[in-house]
Amino acid sequence: MRHLLYRPARETTRCACCGSTKIRHLEATHQRKMPGTEERVAFISGCRDCGAVFINPRPESDTLKSCYAPDGEWAQNRAVSEQTRNETLRALKVERYAEMLARLAALGVDCRQPFGSGEALDFGCGPGFFMDALAKCGWHCAGIDPATAPFLTRHRMLDTIPETRQFSLISALHVLEHVDGQVDLLRKFRGCLHEDGILLIAVPSFHELPKHTRKHYCINYPNHIVALTDRAIETILAMAGFDLLSGTANVWANSYLVAARRSATAAAKISRKPLSAAIAALKDSKTGDIRSGWLWRRLPIRYRAARMNAFYTGKIKRRRERKARRQQEAAEIVPRA
Ligand SMILES: [Zn+2]
Repeated sequence: MRHLLYRPARETTRCACCGSTKIRHLEATHQRKMPGTEERVAFISGCRDCGAVFINPRPESDTLKSCYAPDGEWAQNRAVSEQTRNETLRALKVERYAEMLARLAALGVDCRQPFGSGEALDFGCGPGFFMDALAKCGWHCAGIDPATAPFLTRHRMLDTIPETRQFSLISALHVLEHVDGQVDLLRKFRGCLHEDGILLIAVPSFHELPKHTRKHYCINYPNHIVALTDRAIETILAMAGFDLLSGTANVWANSYLVAARRSATAAAKISRKPLSAAIAALKDSKTGDIRSGWLWRRLPIRYRAARMNAFYTGKIKRRRERKARRQQEAAEIVPRA
């Protein structure tokens, strides 16, 4: 019976974003890279409390840590140490961020001049280009990013989020999808943000999935492990004590960028059915299943996942066997005298 219903060894019963146990599996998805296991299928699970969607099983914290280490896969694939020294790229990115700040200003959130303490924190700052753009506006910047900290010498780098209020601007641009425990992270941001401070968040726009169709970009193992819709962002911000500043969405294409402010009454605004946007987005997007049709879609998700896993692991097994056979045949060929 076990082989008929898919139960990954490290399946989690808690939401990766808020820790709630009110989760449900929305889809089964093929994942090529799941180190340390022969399994090739993960669930896309959703949380009824916060509306976040996450890859299940989740990567272990050690996998994430080594992935985002200075010599880890993420830094190596993007050659971030070279990026930090690339002046042409830097000029281009600074220009792009200046455009983004101008668009935000047009929507009523002007960060082009320092305000409050004049201190800004860029969490997950990468090669530091957004800090460059902010510094050009006059902000004093600090960055946090384990992958680039050793290479980034032109900005002040921190190891952890400070516990005292000192920043008037905090940004996490395309970071929240890479980590888990988003609600706790947002609470930490709140702890070091001044009363009148602004929080900027950008994530891949999951609720616009039917429009851009980049599902694997939005959610995959082990990089984009959590996906957030507009409703989920609003909900987790409210859980952490932030109010979304209206009208700041959709500044970038395929990306959801919002500004938020601290609020004492945010918790009262937690939306009902926050998962509905993610369910609708997945319903209208291509599934990537091994079969299609209404009958297949009506079968239990664990059964479909088991069939998918058998299909993909069988494919890998056959590929390995073919390779071994070819190697054996090559060894058996005796060169003619
Ligand atoms: Zn949750």
